[in-house]
Amino acid sequence: MTAALPTATRHKVASCVVLLLLLFAPLRALGEGIPILAYHRFDPARAGPTTTTVPVFERQLDWLAAHGYTIVRLRDLFEGWQGRGPAVSGREAVLTVDDGHESVYTYLYPIIRQRHLPVTLFIYPSAISNAPYALTWEQLAEMENSGLVDIQSHTFWHPDFHKERAHRTPQDYRAFVDTQLSRSRAVLEKRLGQPVEMLAWPYGIVDPELEAAAARAGYIAGFAFSGGLARPGADAFAIPRIPVANQMPGSLFAGLLTEATSEK
Ligand SMILES: [Zn+2]
Repeated sequence: MTAALPTATRHKVASCVVLLLLLFAPLRALGEGIPILAYHRFDPARAGPTTTTVPVFERQLDWLAAHGYTIVRLRDLFEGWQGRGPAVSGREAVLTVDDGHESVYTYLYPIIRQRHLPVTLFIYPSAISNAPYALTWEQLAEMENSGLVDIQSHTFWHPDFHKERAHRTPQDYRAFVDTQLSRSRAVLEKRLGQPVEMLAWPYGIVDPELEAAAARAGYIAGFAFSGGLARPGADAFAIPRIPVANQMPGSLFAGLLTEATSEK
């Protein structure tokens, strides 16, 4: 458990760098697909590289609604693509939030309850009820019991797999990855009582070896940060998401609007 704090510090720095690079990825000319938005933390007024203010978040939601997007559960989108759930119309959007920051409960949860919007949280259990910035198990249970919040895996303690690979033997690295993926599922399922089958890769780091490990650990889908629209039939363990912080909706969604109108 003590690993959560230094990991969190490293995570904050690295995720800022990754997001700053990806936030400016162009959204135009992406073809048909579904925007899966990836948030991290929220604040009433103070924006940051991974922090969305409440007023901007509400404007983003207003924009999506005004342009005909329906917010759906990530699980429903995935099952719809597989023919196991509601048909996908092509005008869906998905909200996901990584890391389990306490601001998810304080600021995001009241908004999604008011608007009745589904959200998927990707959680690394080592931080929960442990790190000072993190949600508690009680908060996660309350949100999941609302029926609006689905809780999925973000590995056990949010490692940087590039760094872990660099200082471990191949056998040790493989065992480490397997433990990070399987222990997260096991703890979340035991604590919250719901199936955990989806995984968001820490820092968006994913490669064929990690994808094979995710399949071995029983996951059915993995999500990255590659900044494009998600499409059916794409690599199920590296589905792109769009990193979102405090962009105004006009700049964040300009490419989506262009695509949507050109498809009609
Ligand atoms: Zn993360």
